[in-house]
Amino acid sequence: MGRSLKSAKLRSEQISLRLFLCMVVIISSILYISIPLIIQSYQEYIKTNQVLTEITSLRALVKTANKISRERAPANKVMSSTVEELAANQKELAEFRLVVDDQIDQTIATLNQGGFESIATHLQTDFKAKLNHGREVVDAYANIPHAQRTSAQFNHAIFTMFDVWDESRKYLNDLMKQSKSKDSKMSNYFISILVLTDMRDQAGRVASNIMAPVTFGEKISDINRARCLQTQHQSQYLWALVDTIQPEQTKTAEYVHLHQRVKTEFLDQGLPLITKLLDQSQNNQTYFLTGTQLTNRIVDKFTTVMDLQNYILDYSIQVAHEQNKKAKQQFIFTLCISCLSLLTAIFIMIYTKRKVFSPLIKAREMILRLSNASKEELKTKQSRQEFLSLFEAIDRLKVMLNQRDMMEMQLKKIANSDVLTGVANRLALEEYVHALERKPSGFLNTAVVVVDIDNFKFVNDQYGHIVGDQVISTIADHLKHNVRASDLIVRYGGDEFLVVIENITIDAAKVIAESIRSEIAKEPIAISNSDELLWVSVSIGVAVGAKNWLELLEKADQSMLRAKAKGKNVVEG
Ligand code: GH3
Ligand code: MG
Repeated sequence: MGRSLKSAKLRSEQISLRLFLCMVVIISSILYISIPLIIQSYQEYIKTNQVLTEITSLRALVKTANKISRERAPANKVMSSTVEELAANQKELAEFRLVVDDQIDQTIATLNQGGFESIATHLQTDFKAKLNHGREVVDAYANIPHAQRTSAQFNHAIFTMFDVWDESRKYLNDLMKQSKSKDSKMSNYFISILVLTDMRDQAGRVASNIMAPVTFGEKISDINRARCLQTQHQSQYLWALVDTIQPEQTKTAEYVHLHQRVKTEFLDQGLPLITKLLDQSQNNQTYFLTGTQLTNRIVDKFTTVMDLQNYILDYSIQVAHEQNKKAKQQFIFTLCISCLSLLTAIFIMIYTKRKVFSPLIKAREMILRLSNASKEELKTKQSRQEFLSLFEAIDRLKVMLNQRDMMEMQLKKIANSDVLTGVANRLALEEYVHALERKPSGFLNTAVVVVDIDNFKFVNDQYGHIVGDQVISTIADHLKHNVRASDLIVRYGGDEFLVVIENITIDAAKVIAESIRSEIAKEPIAISNSDELLWVSVSIGVAVGAKNWLELLEKADQSMLRAKAKGKNVVEG
């Protein structure tokens, strides 16, 4: 018993181990699928973060470049001012310079945050130095008395400021080179922004290139004319290029409107002012605008270019934000789904173990315990038990239960049998009678044959009880010999037997009774351990049909008594 429980435990451990291995395989598969997905979505999220940081840095730098470009307007105004205008224009320039300085500092901070520390450092040192130099040249020119100023000096100051912008453009190039996002979906936005920055500056240079001769009322030199025309064409080319680069899906109504405004306000209204001044120079006419007036009129037209640029900048930042948000959601979603799958797998495993396997193992142990409790044979085969499955255990129990049924039947038979003769006893008769009572025909066609050994007391007295028992047994054998197996033979009393026969007539029953009587009467019994033969006879009473058992038995008994009275060894019915 102890050994078999140990084996069952062994078996349970095997099932647990297999379940654990299954779990490891399933969990590994989930991890195998989800880890690359998590890494991929995380990398995508990091990439969109990078794009966002880089485009924010780009915007800051573009704003600085624009401000530098824009500073040329108040600077030009100062340099082309009349004595009366000078103080007011210088004030305006000084205020604007503070705005530019503030923008540069903001840009440096943004670049540092965005990981472009080297550009930030250059901006802080080289760029600021270049800007200060440009401003010094402008201020130096403004301090020259009007009478001593020359157009060449003015041109020089303007070009020094061009150099400052060129320096800022260099940093834009550096940022693009260092950018990791230029290969992303955002690359078109990066290019559009750069092209617009260039266009904005080129557009500004259109007027700046002729500012000095216009201010001095001099003829525009061939070089200045060439530069002016070149920047005009450049702006027109870049304007067309922006539209080509811009992806179709991002050409919103606002974009189309702003793009169109650049054409109508800057290209169609701003550039003709320049053309007219060029023509007037060609025809040696007086310019219709002073330098300051030219600056004021052309600056107004720039706003459209700046609006378009700001729109694209804001739109790209918005797109980068959306992509970043989407990637973050995707990453969290992938992470959640993976964790959920893992938890579900673990839950199913634990649930399966607790609610399915453990009860099955327990049931199997219980069945084994039940079947082993009465199964000697298993003891010799215990070593095999660790390989027993639940079904095998059930089969064992089935065998054990069958054997128990057979034993029960045997016990029942023993309880219902007469020990000496092996025929039924009164207990069995009672059950039989109850069964007959339940039948619709009842006892109407049932025969009771009462067989009583004649002068049995004499046999006992003469030969002893052992011979008496032998005689009783022999009579029972004769009864068995003369009736069918379906008929019931009962040892009713000491030397008295009953035979119950169903569905029989009185005549047929009497024939059977007679055959019993005659067979017993003509066959002497050989007494064991003796040569002597013993002649015995039986008196038989027969009755068929009655309302109930007692009546039928009484009738048969009366018949038997009549047979005794007639002198025994007869059949009465
Ligand atoms: P009758 O012809 O009128 O039947 O006379 P009888 O001598 O047979 O009288 P009765 O039937 O009354 O006697 C039955 C005797 O059987 C009485 C009892 O001592 C004896 N007896 C009862 N059971 C057993 C038994 O199991 N073995 C033996 N040897 N004798 C038994
Ligand atoms: Mg008798």
